[in-house]
This record gives sequence, C-alpha cells and structure tokens, in this order.
Amino acid sequence: MFCPKCRGEYVPGIAFCKRCKAELVNELPEIPQPPKLGPPAFAEMVPVAELTNQFDVAMIRGAMEGAGIDFNIRNEDLQSLIGAGFIGGTNAAVGPVYIDVRETDVTAAQQIIQEYFDRQKDSSEQTEKSG
Ligand SMILES: [Zn+2]
Repeated sequence: MFCPKCRGEYVPGIAFCKRCKAELVNELPEIPQPPKLGPPAFAEMVPVAELTNQFDVAMIRGAMEGAGIDFNIRNEDLQSLIGAGFIGGTNAAVGPVYIDVRETDVTAAQQIIQEYFDRQKDSSEQTEKSG
C-alpha cells in the first residue's frame, strides 16, 4: 500500500497514511518524466521552403551553406535528374523540393530565402517594365 501524497509505502492492512492521514492506494500513479534534453534529432527539422525550380534550390542551398545552416533537401533525387539533363524542357510535372532546417535555424533560413526571392522579384520587375 502506498500513500498518494508522500509516496510512503505501508504494509497491507493499513488504510491511511500516518503522516498525511491520506487514504492509501494499491499502486502509485506514474510520475511524469521531464522531457529529455539533448541535441536535436534529424526528425526535428522543419520545412522552410517549397521549391519547384532547380535553380532556386541550387541558389538557396549555396546561400544556406555560406551561412553555416544545417539543412536537408527532400525530393532532390528527382530534381537532380533534371539538373543532369536526363529530363529536358520544363520541370512543371516534377513535385516540389522541400528544404528543411533545424528549428533553431528557421528564422535565419527564412531570411535567406526571403532575400533570395526579393532579388528575383526585383530583376523580373525590371524586365517586365521594359515591355
Ligand atoms: Zn503520506
């Protein structure tokens, strides 16, 4: 028998805790364990970008490497076929490529991606204005 308050153990036959006067129980409830702290696992990476353009992937990848951000690119195998010239023409039929980073790097990664697309936007606007 156990006291649910002080977790003291008693021999069978005793109904109440001597110290707390609490009613004893047959089994103590599980104590919730604090979450284990450690280095973030690979699975804890979160997606920050969804890209369908091989060139965007290459540029952002280079920028992230330059900033020292750990990243993981998913669905890249398919895209690399295009990069290597196995699939010609448009890549519209190819699914998106996802770039994952660690949760602690999300802000920095999003900034890099935003800056990249801002530059893309600026250059395309200049082209459109001439027409
Ligand atoms: Zn007790």
